Amino acid sequence: MNYDIKQVSPIFKGINYFSLFKLIRSSWLTEGKYSTLLNERILDLCNAKYGVFAPNGTLSITMALLATGLKPGERVLIPDTTFFGTATAVILAGGIPVPVPVDSKYYLMDPEKLKFFLDEKTTHIVPVDLFGYSYDRGSIMQFAKSNNLKIVDDSAQALGVKYCGENIGRTSLATSYSFFADKTITMGEGGFVTTNDESVYESLRLIRNQGRLNRGSFIHESIGFNFRVTDMQAFIGLSQLARFDEIVKSKLENFMLYLKYLSQNSNIRVLTQPENSSFIPFRFIIEVKNLAKTIDILEQNSFLQTRRFFFPIHLQPGLLNWYKARKINLPNSDLFVNSIAGYEKGLLLPLHSKISRREIKLICDKINWAN
Ligand SMILES: *Cc1c(COP(=O)(O)O)cnc(C)c1O
Repeated sequence: MNYDIKQVSPIFKGINYFSLFKLIRSSWLTEGKYSTLLNERILDLCNAKYGVFAPNGTLSITMALLATGLKPGERVLIPDTTFFGTATAVILAGGIPVPVPVDSKYYLMDPEKLKFFLDEKTTHIVPVDLFGYSYDRGSIMQFAKSNNLKIVDDSAQALGVKYCGENIGRTSLATSYSFFADKTITMGEGGFVTTNDESVYESLRLIRNQGRLNRGSFIHESIGFNFRVTDMQAFIGLSQLARFDEIVKSKLENFMLYLKYLSQNSNIRVLTQPENSSFIPFRFIIEVKNLAKTIDILEQNSFLQTRRFFFPIHLQPGLLNWYKARKINLPNSDLFVNSIAGYEKGLLLPLHSKISRREIKLICDKINWAN
């Protein structure tokens, strides 16, 4: 995989401010040649047949759920450890998010527990490829098949990741990505849905463009919205994708550096990828013995803005109020021990390409000191 700028297209020989200026001068700001080109490049990277852009990763999950037939009031299983957007995307699509337990090692949706959360109104599963590795696609696909459920992946943190040597997205009906600033590549804001199903693709196109397939027409054959992006964002996305290999390499180098400094400490556990998955680390994820003390030391004199684990979905105040107003009771809330334990121990450390080796060493010294 080599996304060298020169291989993207002759147009991109110089992706620089001058070409962005030319784009703006050309007066074509909405989706055009740059979006088309980036779309092709992303499909290439993901080895997927079809794909569409979304304004962000939350809306791309919403679009994928609508395009795969989610109806109002239907239930969608999501992992209890994930970004809140996984849940709100389900709500925006008219569904009811039902959090399910995660395992204690990778904090991925636990296939063994899914059966305790299933009811006759459940139609979809949105498993999450957390922290840059794949969920257990084998078991979850098996469960989905035997219970007639559709899988929509939330792969916001996992662009380019592989499961059993194959690009993620092969075993699900649709796969959603985010290009927010802290994801592997960014368009500022942005999202993308891939699918290998032609009818899902057609629905996606209708949903994102006011229920029509052609831009210029005022005849709308179905209900759709405006979930488009701009060519300026696509331009940024292209220059980011051109650096994809370089970004991944730099993330892995930083990962190894953290590992070197922290792996000797028996009060710290480092999260790495499950056996069948490749790994493009989202952050450097650790569980520490003394979380409060570690955060204190890292935040002293504004040294580092720390990020804890995702707060368990089943405890999110906004969601609890939402359930209450609708008199929705969730089953088996005593099964969420792992997501709670993760929140009580877990810390996400920065891996991005702008962080220096010296800064990583300093961060690790402080963490080792606190634990
Ligand atoms: C970032 C993220 C989203 C939401 O993507 P946005 O582009 O911020 O809307 C959803 N799910 C997960 C797991 C994410 O990391």
